[in-house]
Amino acid sequence: MTNHKQQNLIATTVKTTCSYCGVGCGIVAEVNRDTREVIVIGDDDHPANFGRLCSKGSSLGETLELSSRLLEPQVYGKQVGWSTALDIVANKFNQIIDQYGSDAIAFYGSGQLLTEDYYVANKLMKGFIGSANIDTNSRLCMSSSVAGHKRTFGSDTVPACYDDYEQAELIILVGSNTAWCHPVSFQRIKAAKESNPKLKVVVIDPRKTQTCDIADLHIPVKIGTDVVLFNGLLSYLYQEYALDQEFIQQHTQGFEETIMAAQNDALNVATVALKCQVAPHILETFYRWYKETKKTLSLYSQGVNQSSSGTDKVSAILHCHLATGRIGKPGCGPLSLTGQPNAMGGREVGGLAHQLAAHMDFNPEDIERVKRFWQSDNMADKPGLTATELFDAVADGKIKAIWIMATNPVVSMPNADKIKQALKKCEFVVVSDCVAHTDTLDLADIKLPAAPWSEKDGTVTNSERRISRQRALLPLAGDAKPDWWIITQVAKKMGFTKGFTYQSSVEIFREHARLSGFENNKKQRLRDFDIFQLANISEDDYHNLQPIQWPITAKKPKGTARLFAKGKFFTPTKKANFTPIKFKPPVNLPNEQWPLVLNTGRLRDQWHTMTRTALAPRLNQHKPEPFVEITSADALDYGLIHGELAQIASTWGKMLVRVVITETIPQGVIFVPMHWTAQFSSQGRMGALVNPVIDPISKQPESKHTPVNIKAYDAQWHGFIISRHPLVFDGIDYTVLVKGNGYFHYEVASSKKIRNWQYHLANQLSPYTDKLDWQTYQDERKSLFRSACFSAKELQAVLIISPHSHLPERGWIGSLFDPLRTGSLKDDERMALLTGKPPLGTPDVGKIICACFNVGEKIILSAIKNSKLTTPQAVGKCCKAGTNCGSCVPEIKELINSSITVTGN
Ligand code: SF4
Repeated sequence: MTNHKQQNLIATTVKTTCSYCGVGCGIVAEVNRDTREVIVIGDDDHPANFGRLCSKGSSLGETLELSSRLLEPQVYGKQVGWSTALDIVANKFNQIIDQYGSDAIAFYGSGQLLTEDYYVANKLMKGFIGSANIDTNSRLCMSSSVAGHKRTFGSDTVPACYDDYEQAELIILVGSNTAWCHPVSFQRIKAAKESNPKLKVVVIDPRKTQTCDIADLHIPVKIGTDVVLFNGLLSYLYQEYALDQEFIQQHTQGFEETIMAAQNDALNVATVALKCQVAPHILETFYRWYKETKKTLSLYSQGVNQSSSGTDKVSAILHCHLATGRIGKPGCGPLSLTGQPNAMGGREVGGLAHQLAAHMDFNPEDIERVKRFWQSDNMADKPGLTATELFDAVADGKIKAIWIMATNPVVSMPNADKIKQALKKCEFVVVSDCVAHTDTLDLADIKLPAAPWSEKDGTVTNSERRISRQRALLPLAGDAKPDWWIITQVAKKMGFTKGFTYQSSVEIFREHARLSGFENNKKQRLRDFDIFQLANISEDDYHNLQPIQWPITAKKPKGTARLFAKGKFFTPTKKANFTPIKFKPPVNLPNEQWPLVLNTGRLRDQWHTMTRTALAPRLNQHKPEPFVEITSADALDYGLIHGELAQIASTWGKMLVRVVITETIPQGVIFVPMHWTAQFSSQGRMGALVNPVIDPISKQPESKHTPVNIKAYDAQWHGFIISRHPLVFDGIDYTVLVKGNGYFHYEVASSKKIRNWQYHLANQLSPYTDKLDWQTYQDERKSLFRSACFSAKELQAVLIISPHSHLPERGWIGSLFDPLRTGSLKDDERMALLTGKPPLGTPDVGKIICACFNVGEKIILSAIKNSKLTTPQAVGKCCKAGTNCGSCVPEIKELINSSITVTGN
């Protein structure tokens, strides 16, 4: 029998897990290790996705280029060897600890880290440096769920699982645009609904998102009022005698006070309707469906968590499940959808500053237990600073050195400009990442090249507690190293030689599994997280580990799908806690100066701060620019025009983005996507505007509610440049980079005139090209300027400048740079570059709708019109759009509807 190392050398197919969202889809990768080419498809056998992948997951193979990678350690801008870099980091940390104490050091991690990386980072900081100043970007994502679970169940337990999608008869999606943020779960729910006519779907969201495509009922609740809605539900169920009194009596405590508080807050439908600004009949329908449907599943995400009352919102949802006994049974329960691929793994190892490893807390018994297990003599004895507190301490100079791992807080944190300034001032900033440039990495003193997805090897845990292997597909590029290796080397060089002698990720995993069972499985489990059965896993078994849901116990060696079926919880009394909850409005409310509410969120085809997804050209075409969604009434009030630019400002910062008028959001609210950074956009970082307000319990920021104002941006000119080579723009107010297939596309606009474009372009292209030939059309009177330049007849760049924002189609011009295209441009194509209209008969696909098959809006519209198509299935048959991940089906439906409206069919 060959061992796995030998297999790896000859294998062309490797099973792994997607690196993006918390659905945790299984992937089958076909790998050519010589050419470093990887083709991915969904893993039919993986229980999270059964072969499905969304547009992001299916394009992972297109993000593995080396040109954008950080491939060697750098110290103050100079390339050095690992030994030098590690010495400098370890010595500086030790010096700061000697001088200021261990709380002067901080680590800031990420849900992108593998569990093994996370484990050793947490062990180093909490067990050996002796501080708990390690927090993670999961604080911004789902720490309110953690706090709600802990307060209610006594443990951070997700009781339900994905199989419940098929078993439920009522699925409630709260604060979750599942269609875009967890697309494979959405497709699974959609399929469940198609095969089970009894299944109803309710979407609770202030926005009418793509998720509403499958909703039987949309509740457009006012932002921040979810507590009232669920307190109202609890009151209604109580008044209708629809509660499970036996479950309440036997398995819970605190019900009386809680129902009183709920009734004080939301006695009846009329009160809830007023506070939530929802029509009473919509609420009545929802409440009645909940009462009548035993198999009720509540899925919730950032719309619930990212709030100054996020913990209360989570508790209010959990209360309704506890009071009806709908927990731990097939088709029932609350299920928090985690944003990141390993947010759950981070929770398992104590990645949050207030947790200890293996779901232990900062209480005397647990501190002592972990200390004994780690044989540490310098164990942290109190919780550390959470994300916002931690960066405040950096800004105040209390933290002198910070190590940021696999995340980009200069973009993603609230009040992000303050984070930028704090890092600029900080004495010693270490950043480990896989790419060469991020807004955060660019501020680092020490840059450490970490292995990315495709090169690193370990485990991740998805939203349903399922541990899956993320396997290395390719050899480490350049000097890149796994995060666990980098962390353990620093630990050893700091003098902690005993605790960090691991030679591979499996050794770390075994220790992590051992700790989960340490003093946890004698008569009764004290802690929910238990994978002790894997503590002696062999290297081969680890390599071949199949996806499995924790807890994994002697009684359930194949894992556990659901928890709490017997009504035993992890509180001292084993009873679940009801906590009286009172609605609290968001901390900062709109006023005369800041009259609108900024809501933020994710897009379908981008992930976090675009470091990887923006490398795949097809993912950049659906929403190429940062934008703001605003209703037509608000747009009218603020003098905004669809397609023009607008400046948004809050007390904390400002941004400049494209205006999109839509009626899918409530009046008084605007929506901005979270993804753009300074690497891609001059003024598109939404984090700069977000208020640094946090939930007092979970310490999660209120990223969904910031008072802002908005005004039209008075551009003197608009334009775009499509270039074979990258360009840099100084002194232009608005620039956005959209990477295309063989080209760099820049959208530009400014209030200041630019003279001599040709000179600027020629200067920038000179390192790449010989002499340039120009063809130019200029109309001084109309301020029109169109120019194309060639080198040896090969098109190098096209520049279009106009006083208006209505510019020629970019898609056709971009296609002229396609690397597969051969031969020079034809005469009519050269002429068309100056007229701005493609030659007659040239297909113009329009805005990309289906990223999986690159199908544009115009192709879909013409298919609908010419073949009289009336369903997305028919459109899919005709042009393939919507037939892979299905995320664009809601948009295809909209195109069908708009065509029917226009033609009157
Ligand atoms: S839904 Fe998409 S992004 Fe999320 S894990 Fe699956 S393939 Fe990856």
